[in-house]
Amino acid sequence: MKKILILIASFIIFSCQTAPVALFPAKGLTEFQQLQKTFFDEYWEINPGHAMHAGHPGYQAALVVPSEDNLKQQVAFYKKYQKTFSDVKTTHLSKDEQADLDILTKVMDRALWYLEVFQSHHWDPSNYNIGYALGKVWENREKSTTEKIRLLNHILQLAPAYYEAGFKNIKTPTKEHLDLAIKQNQGTLDFIEKYILSQNLDQKFSDLLKESQTSIKNYIVNLEGLKESHTRKKSFKSFRLSPKIYDQKFRHDLETINSAKTIYKKAIKDRDLTHRKMIKISNELWSKYYPKDKPPKDNLEMVQKVLYKISLQHSAAESFVSAVREQIPQLINFVEEKNLLSLDKSKPLKIRETPEYMRGVAAASIDSPGPFEKNRETFYNVTPPASLSAERQQSFLREYNNYMLQILNIHEAIPGHYAQLIYGNKSTSPVKSIFGNGTMVEGWAVYTERMMLEEGYGNHSPELWLTYYKWFLRVTSNAILDYSIHNLNMTKAQAMDLLVRQAFQETTEAEEKWNRATLTQVQLNSYYAGFEEIYGFREKLKKQQGPKFNLKKFHEQFLSYGNSPIKTIIHLMEN
Ligand code: ZN
Repeated sequence: MKKILILIASFIIFSCQTAPVALFPAKGLTEFQQLQKTFFDEYWEINPGHAMHAGHPGYQAALVVPSEDNLKQQVAFYKKYQKTFSDVKTTHLSKDEQADLDILTKVMDRALWYLEVFQSHHWDPSNYNIGYALGKVWENREKSTTEKIRLLNHILQLAPAYYEAGFKNIKTPTKEHLDLAIKQNQGTLDFIEKYILSQNLDQKFSDLLKESQTSIKNYIVNLEGLKESHTRKKSFKSFRLSPKIYDQKFRHDLETINSAKTIYKKAIKDRDLTHRKMIKISNELWSKYYPKDKPPKDNLEMVQKVLYKISLQHSAAESFVSAVREQIPQLINFVEEKNLLSLDKSKPLKIRETPEYMRGVAAASIDSPGPFEKNRETFYNVTPPASLSAERQQSFLREYNNYMLQILNIHEAIPGHYAQLIYGNKSTSPVKSIFGNGTMVEGWAVYTERMMLEEGYGNHSPELWLTYYKWFLRVTSNAILDYSIHNLNMTKAQAMDLLVRQAFQETTEAEEKWNRATLTQVQLNSYYAGFEEIYGFREKLKKQQGPKFNLKKFHEQFLSYGNSPIKTIIHLMEN
């Protein structure tokens, strides 16, 4: 699934060396565009990590030393622009510009809330890890190894000061984030060992690398000491947010129309409705898969058994990537035949095996260019299961069976993330492409799954619908889990029941989800919240417009506002 990073830490370490791609034309700027240009010039300086993430050519290697001075600088910057943006007179702005101004104001509010209220720099030691910056340089396909090593210098030189300041910031960590920090920094050490140390390195660079490795090792040792003392005193901070902080984070991160509580209630209702639909389909399919047996009395157990038979219809490990490759043209044809969305033929999707150093838990993901590299190709990374152990491989292939694979491809590629990205990159508003809203991005991908099946993709196959509903249960369960952990004190046992028995997940998947839910807050809610608001808005328009409603027109207009929050898009479409 595509991740939108919210990067708020910053400190300039590496200034522009090449001419940046212009976000704004050189001449003829309106007053508001000029203000945005000034803002962005300062913003990249104060937040080079975000510049690097966005693909800004002037910030190819950035690291922030999280000193106290730096924190103060950031607060001052965001306060200054919070005031500047609130002073802008909106009367002479177009609707689109008003939306940009609204987004900018909210970005300032959110950054300040993170720095002054949420303050994860005091309790999340995994904030400090040079691995992301190292990896970002290393994965740059256009750079030679010599050039990459030159860029890495900038990061490595700062590593000792970076880790020292980071450790100083930690007051009372949560156990979960502390364990994560140890694990991820260990991962960075492994990364250096495997990819960088294997290169032909000169003495000066080798020394610098050694010094950085020592800083990382020291940080890990310090964290282990902290862990020992907090364990002894039972003084860790809880990973659960208070309902008040949760609600604030929900509003800042997701920017939905509805409150966290309303979304939670809708998720419960949708989950129950999904169960009823799954029971109905499974009843109908039972005799096809179990001609000799009576269905179990427990309805969910019956659904589970039918799902199991369906999951046995899967590709072989060797042909998994080609199975994905073959499905994409079918999806494109369907979208075109049914007139659902225009697809840009000049930008074909490149399907490839996920590069080894990028492989994680995801079966597939979209690797797309940032706002500064619009001409770069987009890759659909598919991880071949061949490298997994025999048992994991079988479980992976059952999960991504012939039916689930189609839902995955709809979500990640056509007309999900990939199609949305092409539209997003067409937006001429730098604000909307740089401060993309994750709820809109994930919500769109989840919406397209339902839309495709409703339009008849897969010929209304009951197997495909049942599999889809299992996938959709993951979406509703994520929302229920996330809300319940922080607001209703949900225990791990309750979570496992929610995910395994009620959502038909494998125990390992459910364990991983519990871990993720203890480490992130609110993000797991974005899929359902986004889906619910897009789908709900479409249904409302359908009702209002009657026979005049045109699905393609709706999709194209919805996608034309870049990665704006759904709330903003609805406002623009309704007025
Ligand atoms: Zn996704």
